[in-house]
Amino acid sequence: MTSQSTTPTSLCIYCDGPGPFSDEHVISAGLGADDDRFLLGDMVCRRCNTDVFGCLEREVLRSSPIAVGRAFLQPHGRKRGKHTSVPGIQAQHKQMANASGYPDEVDFGPHAKPIVLPQIKMIGEKEFESSAASLDELRSFVKSLSSLLQGTQVICIRKWGLEHELRYEAITMLRSSKTFTLADGSSFQAKPPRGGLWLERSDEARTGDVTPAATIFKNLNGEIVLKTSSTRIEDALNFFACAVEQFSFDVQVTKDIENPIVSVGMTVTIGVVERVIAKIGINLLAYYLGRDYVTDPGFRQVKGSILTGSPRLGGHIVEDATITAILNAAPDNHHVFFLSKVNQPGGRAAIIMVAKLYGAAQSISLALDAPAPHLPFPVFFLVDYVNHEVKQRSLVEYAEYLLEMGSAGQ
Ligand SMILES: [Zn+2]
Repeated sequence: MTSQSTTPTSLCIYCDGPGPFSDEHVISAGLGADDDRFLLGDMVCRRCNTDVFGCLEREVLRSSPIAVGRAFLQPHGRKRGKHTSVPGIQAQHKQMANASGYPDEVDFGPHAKPIVLPQIKMIGEKEFESSAASLDELRSFVKSLSSLLQGTQVICIRKWGLEHELRYEAITMLRSSKTFTLADGSSFQAKPPRGGLWLERSDEARTGDVTPAATIFKNLNGEIVLKTSSTRIEDALNFFACAVEQFSFDVQVTKDIENPIVSVGMTVTIGVVERVIAKIGINLLAYYLGRDYVTDPGFRQVKGSILTGSPRLGGHIVEDATITAILNAAPDNHHVFFLSKVNQPGGRAAIIMVAKLYGAAQSISLALDAPAPHLPFPVFFLVDYVNHEVKQRSLVEYAEYLLEMGSAGQ
C-alpha cells in the first residue's frame, strides 16, 4: 500500500476529514445541473457527499415545496447512464377534488399532470364509489383486486421508519367463509414480501375534506394500497371483497375533470431546503474562489449547520423589488444563484447568496465575517435545468438579460 502524505490541502472542505474524496456536483445534479464542467474534485469527502448531502438532496428533491416546482417544470431528472427519470413527488397524500366530495387518490405524471389512480372508496356501510383515468384501467384494477381478495390469505405490508432505514411489517389476514380475520403475530422484514397489500393510514389532521372510511387503489408502481381512516383493516377487506363481487361496470361513470383542484400533503423536515441551498453556496464559492477561501473560519458555522442541521440556517424569502427584478431577468427554465458581498472593516466581508429555484427565491447568509473575495462580486450562476447546463455570468454579462428584458417590454 502506497502511503500518501495528508497535507492540509487534501482535507474535506466541509468536515476537515482526510477523505477518500468523490466528485461533488457544484450545484446538485438532481436540480437540473448535471454538468460535468461544474464538479469539485478532491474537495468533498465521500462521507459528506454521499451520506450527508445525498440524503438531504433526496429529501429536497422528492418531498419539499421544491419537489412540486421540479415536477411541474423540469422534464428530466439527472442522467444515469442511458436512463433519465421523471422527477416525482413523495407525499403523504396526493388527492384531487372529485365531484362527489370524496377526494380521489392521484399521482403525478410528467410535468406534474395529475393521474387519477384506479380506486374504490368505502363511503358508507354499503356504498362504494370508484374512479380511474379510464374504464379499462378500472376493469383491470378490479380484476387484480378480486384475485387478491379471493385467496385464503392476504399478506398486508406496513412501512415503518424513515426512508434510509425502512422496515416492513408483514401482517397475515386469513379468509374463510368470505370473512377476513387477523392471524396472530406479525413479522418484521428488511424487504417487503411480494404480492402483498400495502397499508396506509389516512391523514386525518386535515380539515375541510370528507374522508372515506377506506380506499383501495393501485399506485403507479402497480402496488395495491389499502388506506384506512375510521375502519379496521379486516372490515375494509371484507367490504372490498364484497364490492368487487358486486361490481357492475354498467353503473360506473368515469370522466375527465377539468381544472382539477389538486391537494398535495407532505412532511418537510424544517431547514432541509436551506441546508441544500447553503451547501450549493459554499460549493460555488469553492469553485469560483478556490478551496482556501472556504476553509476560512468565517464559514465554520454555516458548514456546521449544513452538516448537522444546527444551529438552524435563516433563509429569507426575497421580497426586495430590485433583487426580484434582477432574478426575473434570467431566461426561462433557469435557476439563478447570485453571490454578493457586503464589505466589512479590515478587508473582510459578509457573504450572502440568493437562490431562485423553479421560480421561488430566498436568500441565505453564508458568512458574516469572511475574507473579502479576490475576484469580482457579485457573480451569477445560472442553471438551464431543461438541458442540464450551468453558466457563470459576471454582473456585466448578467446585465444583458436585464437590457433584453427592458427592450422586449417596449
Ligand atoms: Zn467531509
